[in-house]
Amino acid sequence: MTLTAPSRPVQVTETIAEVRAAVHRARAAGRRIGFVPTMGALHAGHISLMTQAGAEGDFVVVSIFVNPTQFGPAEDFQRYPRPRETDLQLCAQAQVDAVFYPEVETMYPPGHRTYVEVAGLSNTLEGAIRPGHFRGVATVVTKLFHIVQPDRAYFGLKDYQQFTLLRLMARELDLPIELVGCETVRDPDGMALSSRNAYLSSDQRQAGLALSRALRAAQTLVAEGVHELDVLQRAMQRELDQTPGIEPDYAVIVDPDSLSPLTAVQPVMVALVAGRVGTTRLIDNQILRLSGSR
Ligand code: AMP
Repeated sequence: MTLTAPSRPVQVTETIAEVRAAVHRARAAGRRIGFVPTMGALHAGHISLMTQAGAEGDFVVVSIFVNPTQFGPAEDFQRYPRPRETDLQLCAQAQVDAVFYPEVETMYPPGHRTYVEVAGLSNTLEGAIRPGHFRGVATVVTKLFHIVQPDRAYFGLKDYQQFTLLRLMARELDLPIELVGCETVRDPDGMALSSRNAYLSSDQRQAGLALSRALRAAQTLVAEGVHELDVLQRAMQRELDQTPGIEPDYAVIVDPDSLSPLTAVQPVMVALVAGRVGTTRLIDNQILRLSGSR
């Protein structure tokens, strides 16, 4: 990735007290706090969230924490990439003000037993395939929100179910934080950027492209005036089925807020696709709007 903006010093904090002190100083100086939670292995998708926070004039705090509670026992927690120095350099280049880089024991002292669960939304789609995943996400984001106490928090719409669930959680827990959903950053061939793309061989990457192709197929049909839900879903499924090397998990069109299945098209919908390429899981999504809908 080439970034040309000059770096500026970024304060790296590892304890809760340190990051709170940095936030306290910024707030005392009249700044609003913008927060970007990440698991590191940063790419242009993450950077776009940081840039958006900076563009709002926020004091930008980024957390980098590979959260063990959102990984299943057979998932990639151990092998998840942790390129600390590169990540800190990228944060500096993106004009981030402070990075919170805690140890696992800081976030989860021995004996930790308190979890946050968003009923229903946690158990469908990604949640059905990755039991406990969203409980881990909701728990760590709640903890990070309490630690950083931001005014605004920036999330990628690439993880659409995660964003929907966290927005609902913030509302139901009366958290005074505005959640901002940011557009998915893609490679020129359409592939959504993901830290997990680093696991893919070039053949596997070709297979992974079926996800964005499936979404484009649905989008094109909608633009052509096709309004039969099953035709749209079948077109997505066909794209996945006919691509060698990808095992589809789901290809569905659902309500954009409840993520419930639809029986007929409606003005705004979201198409969600997921599949496995080798041992790597990939997800993607696309908002679908019938013509004339905003
Ligand atoms: P992660 O490090 O995967 O937990 O992602 C941290 C944040 O970056 C989440 O809010 C993601 O939705 C967001 N993100 C990941 N990939 C992209 C992308 N390609 N475009 C925009 N945001 C992204």
